[in-house]
Amino acid sequence: MISNLYGNPHSASNSSQLTTKRIEDIRLKLLKLFNADPEHFDVVFVANATAGIKLVMEAFKDQEKGFWYGYHRDSHTSVIGVRETAAQHRCFTSDAEVRQWANELDNEPRLPGLFAYPAQSNMNGRRLPLDWSRRIRSNKQGAVYTLLDAAALVSTSPLDLGEPKNAPDFTVLSLYKMFGFPDLGALIVLKESSKILDTRRYFGGGTVEMVVCLKEQWHAKKSETLHERFEDGTLPIHSIMALDTAMSVHRDLFGSLARISKHTAFLATRLYEDLFSLRHSNGIAVCKIYKEPTSAYGDTRTQGPIIAFNLRNHLGGWVRNAEVEKLAAIKNFQLRTGGLCNPGGVASSLGLAPWEMKENFSAGQRCGSDNDIICAKPTGMIRVSLGAMSTLKDVCSFVDFLREFFVHDRPLSATPPVTTPCTEPPTQSLFHVESISVYPIKSCAAWSVPPGEPWEVRREGLAWDREWCLVHQGTGTALSQKRYPKMALIRPVIDLEKGLLRIQLSGSLRNVVSTPEITVPLSADPLLFSDKAMYKDTTTKVCGDSISTKTYRSGGVSAFFTQALGVACHLARFPAVGNGRGPVTSSRHAKAHLQKYQKAGGMHLPGAFPDTRLLAPGCGVSKPILLSNESPILIISRSSLNRLNELIKAEGGKAAQAEVFRANIVVAENLDCPPGAEQPYTEDDWRYLQIGQQYFEMLGPCRRCQMVCVDQYTAERNQEPFVTLSKTRRFDGRVYFGEHTAHVPANDGGSLLAQNPTITVGDTVHPFPEEEAEEALRLQSLVS
Ligand SMILES: *Cc1c(COP(=O)(O)O)cnc(C)c1O
Repeated sequence: MISNLYGNPHSASNSSQLTTKRIEDIRLKLLKLFNADPEHFDVVFVANATAGIKLVMEAFKDQEKGFWYGYHRDSHTSVIGVRETAAQHRCFTSDAEVRQWANELDNEPRLPGLFAYPAQSNMNGRRLPLDWSRRIRSNKQGAVYTLLDAAALVSTSPLDLGEPKNAPDFTVLSLYKMFGFPDLGALIVLKESSKILDTRRYFGGGTVEMVVCLKEQWHAKKSETLHERFEDGTLPIHSIMALDTAMSVHRDLFGSLARISKHTAFLATRLYEDLFSLRHSNGIAVCKIYKEPTSAYGDTRTQGPIIAFNLRNHLGGWVRNAEVEKLAAIKNFQLRTGGLCNPGGVASSLGLAPWEMKENFSAGQRCGSDNDIICAKPTGMIRVSLGAMSTLKDVCSFVDFLREFFVHDRPLSATPPVTTPCTEPPTQSLFHVESISVYPIKSCAAWSVPPGEPWEVRREGLAWDREWCLVHQGTGTALSQKRYPKMALIRPVIDLEKGLLRIQLSGSLRNVVSTPEITVPLSADPLLFSDKAMYKDTTTKVCGDSISTKTYRSGGVSAFFTQALGVACHLARFPAVGNGRGPVTSSRHAKAHLQKYQKAGGMHLPGAFPDTRLLAPGCGVSKPILLSNESPILIISRSSLNRLNELIKAEGGKAAQAEVFRANIVVAENLDCPPGAEQPYTEDDWRYLQIGQQYFEMLGPCRRCQMVCVDQYTAERNQEPFVTLSKTRRFDGRVYFGEHTAHVPANDGGSLLAQNPTITVGDTVHPFPEEEAEEALRLQSLVS
């Protein structure tokens, strides 16, 4: 590209001729990789394997009376989709069914037929017989064509098309799966069978010789070569040239596909054996592996280097795939979970009936969602794949990873060691508020409420908490630290005196933007305080829900955040939501999560969350949380954090800052509590909480994800504290730290306390565990 000019093909110019010449050479080189003689085969370049399948489909769909379509159960979704355009279709549910049908002499359809199947299942790597094309061709006497989906096979196996009469009529593959780059697919066509493709009606630039379209409608397709008639529009010429380099580099690195096959078969055998023999301390197998009885790891004819499995816990129950995925991400394993784009294979391996799949779908199960064990059955799998560049070390570290997190070999340290409780009389509180934080901009840094400053608590949370958010300019989605860890370095400051929200940048963002700080008014109503044009009403997606927001129109504001994060975004504000509770202040500053609560119909304060009791940790059952990751106020305990950090440090890890948990209130035990009498995780048993003069109801423990690994001062990702949390605070497959809570307003209709509820750093904290909850309610009614 540096030394030549490559023109669009189909012209006489030198640059165009150069392109054409090189592409023809690359076609040849690709055919040779599969031992395909150019006299019998041609290559059509397409965007990906799916595009190759669709090209074949287009031609069959344009047959006069349509076509008959058969496909194997183990097909990729892209192959199955073809059935929707067929006049008749049939899913073959086993190899035996295919064999029987293929051996029947032509009694089959009068319609032209197409039979498609994968050379290797993308679900569990099983390799299917390659002789079906020959059988079908000879027994159906040309009435049924074959489409081989080789996309999964050829990344770790040779494919020999040396004998045209045994070859599939059409073979599709994804070149990026072989080489990593370029993003390109190919359709290899047996020339002898190409006539059926010519019924395709569509033509595009590049595929026709002449088109008449004024008084008469006529066109002539290109006839010189096969690929010319199917490559619609301009070829991705630079990608094709990159393919040339990719093939050369691949050969230099790995030698041949046959060597890759040997190498990966060796690794896969080892991985399979290790996974197969993993046992919990009580002897229960850890991995349920989905392998066909007819295939064997190590036998490259029947099995590729892919393993699909699910994990079991030591009680024999299923481990959630989402849980495995989160930990794998932290440990930097790239694996896939869910339906794997192979609905037939997954359903038959998991024993899911169609009604169950539909039921799961209506219960909210989607490919890749968190909700992946339904009625004690997994709805998806875990898949690990090995490739040319995989090593024995990769295999060993993956097995070690499973052993570390999912194999039960000693009692989990979930139950806190017995501690001597403080001996002070229970009426005197042992806890106080160590700090109060708000997060004015969702997912950005905390702002700490200064000690001594009474801070307003509202039904929807602390004043100014998550009042603003940053919204992606393209998708309208609220940005989160999970994807943009640098948001931690955006530091909002609430300046009540000037009535401003100041936004400053810290750490590595400090020199990214020329403006050191921007400000927006705290006052929410632009009609009262500023010009009308400040906001624009918009809808923002927050955690998958549509929430109405007001976006700031100012170009300067957007530019500030856009430059800081390197992603085009706006600042937006959650507008008022009338909640009918009276005081204007609380209805004016509604938050996304309040909108969520109201939508879910879950907000029935005070005191009416029916079944939210947390059973003691360690007994394996935890109370359901009302909302997955948002609640009005989040509380963490200093003692619990200390306990967690002791465990992290004991393993040589980096202690976690309190900030990573993004709590609103940190509760700490009083200093006069004797040493060793700390009560970590006692908050699990709290039902109500009195802070200063205000009452709070505990809503349930807070579920955690990898976001707690983002260092809030450098925006770097660590492994801790999630790794240790997963080992010590995992109940029923979910990892918890901190407690959701909501303010319970006093409904006395007008005392000062009710009209302006506040809490202050240093306030005493009095927890009411389950057994004292009644007492708390009584006290609260006394206050009222
Ligand atoms: C990946 C894959 C596909 C789809 O390939 P694309 O290049 O994404 O279109 C189809 N079939 C199998 C077996 C695959 O592995």
